[in-house]
Amino acid sequence: MNKFFETPVEYLKGVGAARATALKKELGIAAYGDLLQYFPFKYIDRTRFYKVKEASAEMPYVQILARLTHKEIIGEKAARRLVAAAQDDTGPIELVWFQGIARVFENLVVGKVYVFFGKPGFFNNKLQIAHPETELYSANPTKSSGSQALQPAYNSTEKLKKFLLDSKGIQKLVAALLEQYGRNITENLPEYLRQTNHLIDRAKAFQQIHFPADFMQLKEASKRLKFEELFFLQLKLLKNKIFRTQQFKGNVFGNVGYFFNEFYKHKLPFALTSAQKRTLKEIRFDTQKGIQMNRLLQGDVGSGKTVVALMSILLAIDNGFQACMMAPTEILANQHYQSLKQLLGEGFVEFALLTGSTSKKERRVIHENLESGKLHILIGTHALIEDKVQFKNLGFVVIDEQHRFGVEQRAKLWRKNSIPPHILVMTATPIPRTLAMTLYGDLDISIIDELPAGRKPIETKHFYENSRLRVFGFMKQEIAKGRQVYVVYPLIKESEKLDLKNLMDGIEVMSREFPLPEYRISIVHGQLSAADKAFEMQRFVKGETQIMVATTVIEVGVNVPNASVMIIENAERFGLSQLHQLRGRVGRGAEQSYCILMSSEKLSKDGRTRLETMVRTNDGFEIAEIDLQLRGPGNIEGKQQSGVLDLKIANLVEDQPILLKARQAVEAIFEEDPQLLLPKNQLLQQHFAQKNEGLSWNKIS
Ligand code: ADP
Ligand code: MG
Repeated sequence: MNKFFETPVEYLKGVGAARATALKKELGIAAYGDLLQYFPFKYIDRTRFYKVKEASAEMPYVQILARLTHKEIIGEKAARRLVAAAQDDTGPIELVWFQGIARVFENLVVGKVYVFFGKPGFFNNKLQIAHPETELYSANPTKSSGSQALQPAYNSTEKLKKFLLDSKGIQKLVAALLEQYGRNITENLPEYLRQTNHLIDRAKAFQQIHFPADFMQLKEASKRLKFEELFFLQLKLLKNKIFRTQQFKGNVFGNVGYFFNEFYKHKLPFALTSAQKRTLKEIRFDTQKGIQMNRLLQGDVGSGKTVVALMSILLAIDNGFQACMMAPTEILANQHYQSLKQLLGEGFVEFALLTGSTSKKERRVIHENLESGKLHILIGTHALIEDKVQFKNLGFVVIDEQHRFGVEQRAKLWRKNSIPPHILVMTATPIPRTLAMTLYGDLDISIIDELPAGRKPIETKHFYENSRLRVFGFMKQEIAKGRQVYVVYPLIKESEKLDLKNLMDGIEVMSREFPLPEYRISIVHGQLSAADKAFEMQRFVKGETQIMVATTVIEVGVNVPNASVMIIENAERFGLSQLHQLRGRVGRGAEQSYCILMSSEKLSKDGRTRLETMVRTNDGFEIAEIDLQLRGPGNIEGKQQSGVLDLKIANLVEDQPILLKARQAVEAIFEEDPQLLLPKNQLLQQHFAQKNEGLSWNKIS
């Protein structure tokens, strides 16, 4: 960016204070750069002339080439109007003006050929355009005649229209800016990059994105500007990563010692999958470099991330460090605690659970043991990063389920030790490659893309309400085999009352259909206290109840291998990734598992696509891609906090090829010239110097 881009928009001739205020308030346009980057949302194709016969009232606009045959001012006072007639080889067209009559009348010459442009209508069965844009036809239009082929259309607002800043008004401002100051748009991509990536220069790109002569120009311009946007985003992300690796030392886990080996040889109840082994190697490699690790561990539900995290933790312990494991909810933290208990047994390593419901007394003991170093692993919720909690030597942090932390929290975490701990973020929400590159562009990524052997793929079926009895029958059949069943209801914050009613109605039906003493039901929803929730959960975990009726609180992490049926009520109200998460609660044991999607008959197009996708595939990455296409990147979880996806022109769904090119270019540059010191990268260095926004947007994950 340069000064020109930051010049306040009111300096532009024709803007002034009032319009400037309105532009800022309504569209966030404060400076020249904002105006230049206020891109048209569509272009009206003026390359094509329609015949009179082809025009229909449904068309938003039409451009017709016709010879003027007649002009006449008729009517009195308010009804006074100019009516003109024209003709092409397929029929007549009528043109009407209610304003500016005298001037238009004077300029129209009967017998000449004109280009008429506007919204077609029909009046007495005759094609008519009111207030058409009218231009004398010439076989070689010059640029100054304003007849560029593709007319940009800009979004405006009612308020702005009062300032005569409708689409046309904005267009005029952009045109004036480009005409007067276009030469001040300086290049920010080095020549060599533009050549290898076939990109036009920057000033030209801005000219052409607003006023393309044809589609070819539009394409060139948009490619260039999209590349630029994605390139600098990647540059920023990777620059940060380099900065971090230079700035922060990392603990070195040089030994594979007693804890790791003992666990691996005598406690691990299964063979690791090759994906788990690969991931462990990646972590092991990272933690030996003396550089702080920031790694994202992606793996579908049930792929076995926990054991990978645990074994990394054991490695930390072997090297004299402590570790902690953070989960977003108490239920999940508790679940992790239970799994660790199961895997580690008693008297091996020392670990404890710290949550909001930990008593004062227990808390004090935990604090003491952490400070003395007696406690190896602390599991818990956010409470873990409270200031009071002091570790003797924290070396490894596991963050479960895509917890994103702001700078403040990160700082807190890092201050727990003089050298910041290694960080492993685990997420079961697979993120499409392009998103990961942007959202997590500065993290290293490990992927567990393989489920433990012997898992049978979950069968997914979609039923409507009229099959309810069949579904109940199926539940009974599975319960008779000793299995357990989840029944999940949607929970949407805006209508909590309604959701609760749904849930209560559901519970009533269930209790009637599955009566005591033969059947026992656990109920979990958001209105229960944490203790009650935990109690109900535990009954289900222990197998004391066969059915768990719940809202989505069970969404993440809950692990009951004996549960083989997941019934999702009002499935059309869930997002795809949420459905996939829920489905992942079953299929954790050796038994064949099922997911049943109940929905009403009325389905939106997207709703239907979601359910069909679920029935068709179990592949979390495929589902994530489809989710991204359906919802657009703007709605992906975690995005709101990141701000990284606040893109002006590029689209992460459509522009994947450009993103890949940009990413590759950035990687190659840093490989060769990590400090951007080479003369050929001077432009990039300048870009950073001018646009140093600090690291505030950056998150650890
Ligand atoms: P997630 O990736 O969803 O967190 P978990 O770590 O909870 O998955 O693992 C799901 C289940 O699979 C657990 O019961 C775990 O003990 C088991 N598991 C993990 N790895 C393996 C493996 N290699 N072979 C067999 N079972 C495994
Ligand atoms: Mg898990």
